[in-house]
Amino acid sequence: RRYQGEVIYKGHHSYDLMQQIKLGIQHSVVRISQVAERNLMMDDFIVEQKTTFSPFGGVDTPPHNTPKFTFKDYFPMVFRDLRQRFGINSELYLRSVCGSEALRELSTPGKSGSLFFHSWDDRFILKTVPKAETNTLKKILPQYYFHMMQNKESLITRFFGLYRITTHKINARRRHIRIVVMNNFLPTRVPIHEKYDLKGSTLGRQASPTELLSPYVTLKDLDFVRNGPLLIDKTLRERLLNQLGYDLLFLSSINIMDYSFLVGLHIPNRESRPHGQGWNLTPLSLSDDTRHEGELSFSSVRVERPSLSERVGGWIGKNMKGETVHIFFGIIDILDEYSFRKESEHFLKTRLLCAGSLSVSVCEPSMYAQRLKKFVKEAFLPKEEGSSTEQSPRTP
Ligand code: ATP
Ligand code: CA
Ligand code: CA
Repeated sequence: RRYQGEVIYKGHHSYDLMQQIKLGIQHSVVRISQVAERNLMMDDFIVEQKTTFSPFGGVDTPPHNTPKFTFKDYFPMVFRDLRQRFGINSELYLRSVCGSEALRELSTPGKSGSLFFHSWDDRFILKTVPKAETNTLKKILPQYYFHMMQNKESLITRFFGLYRITTHKINARRRHIRIVVMNNFLPTRVPIHEKYDLKGSTLGRQASPTELLSPYVTLKDLDFVRNGPLLIDKTLRERLLNQLGYDLLFLSSINIMDYSFLVGLHIPNRESRPHGQGWNLTPLSLSDDTRHEGELSFSSVRVERPSLSERVGGWIGKNMKGETVHIFFGIIDILDEYSFRKESEHFLKTRLLCAGSLSVSVCEPSMYAQRLKKFVKEAFLPKEEGSSTEQSPRTP
């Protein structure tokens, strides 16, 4: 079985960073797991814990073979709660992110310059984020927490931790590296044949000819339109659009925009080349009570918490070619500071225009949300009655 990305071997340019991330998160998770369970308090949303890791070890830090660094753990109690809410226990988190297996670094998929690391089992994505995005997350965390607690089916990225690593005196300068840990919306067990990053805008939104050469290409809105809508079960569609509505309303209410609706398609019909070699699809006995029409899960993972974006095996639909597709989706990249910068730049103007409700910064996020919602509504059409009788596909 092959994974996307480059294993961070010893000598790799990210090797020290990877070791430091693992040491830091391990320390953080172990420490917080010793704190007794209790309800969160507002203060938990401002607590930041700093630990310095000497190569020689410290009172409660192990010796290590990277240069001295300081690890900052943001709001550990809040993230412990969120992980719990998302069904990620400490043991799993530690095993996936901090275990002896190396993380993998992906060639930067975005323009922003962020680095992406995947845990060895592909469950978690670690993304380096600029200071402004860290500030966004810090600012929205209470609302985010509330929204995620209220919306069990939310399609929004799940954040499991926010950390900062400070290196000590490289070229007489300290370097700050900020990292969010989040869920991977795309499956770890089946190859993805088409991946779309949708924003609801068509302007220039298509993969370039060079990008199209890669089997991992991220396609965009125009590519989606060209391939045509997907057909899904009517009830599923309602559920999806409903939740999307709540999520987008939330994001626009906190002035966030420029996020994407990520769609991944696994198409069993297609040969899995080249990264699909070795993937093993094992259909589950379809007796699970929580199973809905058009839905499939796979035997080796038990679905504890059925949710829209977490369905193991995805949702089954059809594309315009009539192929059966397994659909995976989620809302990503919600920390762009754009709207916040804009908001402060136009603070006065905003206040002045608010009366007429024509303010740029108030309207823009909600227009962005509406446009994306419209796009998704047209991208997923209800399957005709009677055509949904088809059973889940079997592997040959
Ligand atoms: P930019 O700001 O230029 O759009 P970025 O560096 O902020 O890029 P993202 O938009 O967050 O990067 O992600 C880039 C790509 O990485 C996405 O299009 C998607 O393919 C993949 N990706 C990001 N987050 C996730 C996730 N949680 N699950 C699965 N794939 C993801
Ligand atoms: Ca993006
Ligand atoms: Ca971004």
